[in-house]
Amino acid sequence: MKKAARSELFRELPSVDELVHLPDAAALSVSYGTPAVTDAARAVLERLRQEIASGLLDEAALKLAVGGLTRAIEEQLRQALQPSLRPVINATGVILHTNLGRAPLSEAALERIGGTAAVYSNLEFDVEAGERGKRDVHVERLLRRLLSDDNATPDVQTIVVNNNAAAVLLALNTLAEGGEVIVSRGELVEIGGSFRIPDVMAKSGATLREVGTTNRTRVADYEKAICERTRLLLRVHRSNFEITGFTEQPSAAELVELARRRGIPLMEDLGSGALVDLLNFGISGEPSVLDSLRAGVDVVTYSGDKLLGGPQAGLISGRAALVARMRSNSLFRALRVDKLTYAALEGTLLAYVRRDHDAIPALRMMRLTKDDIGKRAAKVAAQAESARLKIAVIDGESVIGGGAAPSSVLPTRLLALSCVDRSADELARRLRAFDPPIVARVEDGRVLLDLRTVFEEQDGMVATALKGIAS
Ligand SMILES: *Cc1c(COP(=O)(O)O)cnc(C)c1O
Repeated sequence: MKKAARSELFRELPSVDELVHLPDAAALSVSYGTPAVTDAARAVLERLRQEIASGLLDEAALKLAVGGLTRAIEEQLRQALQPSLRPVINATGVILHTNLGRAPLSEAALERIGGTAAVYSNLEFDVEAGERGKRDVHVERLLRRLLSDDNATPDVQTIVVNNNAAAVLLALNTLAEGGEVIVSRGELVEIGGSFRIPDVMAKSGATLREVGTTNRTRVADYEKAICERTRLLLRVHRSNFEITGFTEQPSAAELVELARRRGIPLMEDLGSGALVDLLNFGISGEPSVLDSLRAGVDVVTYSGDKLLGGPQAGLISGRAALVARMRSNSLFRALRVDKLTYAALEGTLLAYVRRDHDAIPALRMMRLTKDDIGKRAAKVAAQAESARLKIAVIDGESVIGGGAAPSSVLPTRLLALSCVDRSADELARRLRAFDPPIVARVEDGRVLLDLRTVFEEQDGMVATALKGIAS
């Protein structure tokens, strides 16, 4: 098209002002507000201008587009005002997927939020006494039951902060600021999202004293490093990796013995921190919070949204005297959590107290058997398979994720897709374009979906999406 003709086309476009005063657009202003409608009109007109400039629109096409301007504005508004944080279907088989929000909350947690968040609550009010109370009493009560059900851990107290990174920071700052903390070189871990033990140590004002080597550290290495500046022995769970082969690491019991003998507290950053014995779920190598406390560890830190299966939070459980010092540290005020977190945590912990572990989605997903998942997968495959999209149901492995039990995997059945003329990456992209987006794995040139992490009521949506991506 020639330049002169294009400039005529530009003149066919209404102004933003004309556009927002058209009767239909004016009606949109009532629902969305004039500023939003003006922005949307501007965006739609700008898109048309670009299409004219690049010669994509001739006169007839432009007429059509101008006729549909109000509808285009409405669509633009819908997209612009759609929430940014929205549900996705997790078909990766990674149960605690940090990028997908880690643990999905239980119904009980949502009920507690629904019941207290939209009204006033006794968050920091002692109703009986009629005076100011403490926000941590709400979960302290339940955690005391869960963590001191025997004589081995008589005086356990717990406080809650924003996440486990905050828990480690608060504990180190309280117990070791200005002094040294002894850590094995094999445990100087980095957890996804830039949590690095040496960096957190530096921010806490404590000095890291590394001992041993990457693969071998003995209790004697800790003992040799103890001096008058030593404030704390720290053990860090190797959440997301394992060191195998020629390795040695002192047991918790050995470190407890050393800590007691030298009168220095022992802290363990468990990371995931299960509240049940995961051996019941077929998962080994993941010590529970109670295991550590029973072994005599003085302070344990762990996340609320990993194996615990609750909201994002960091929990610090340990000896009452040490936890009391953390509570009165002014950092605690800066790192504290809000009523939504306490509500969700209380709902989650109640399920543990009632021993209703299936009420917690992450734990329920861990317990699904390969057979259960295989049956659902076969049903979805039967609904969605077509001449263009082949779906095989094959053996595979789910993982726990979230820095828990790196080597323990759960046997599962996977949907493996292959399409006559579309690459795996293209199929995965189309699954992500579905509403809600479906996130799958791509491995060895194949798209793999694991229904372990898909809620059963979402199976139908997965089948619908699969039918759509090949056509
Ligand atoms: C996950 C993890 C953290 C960080 O916990 P967040 O709750 O994500 O802040 C710290 N230490 C260990 C060992 C972890 O596994």
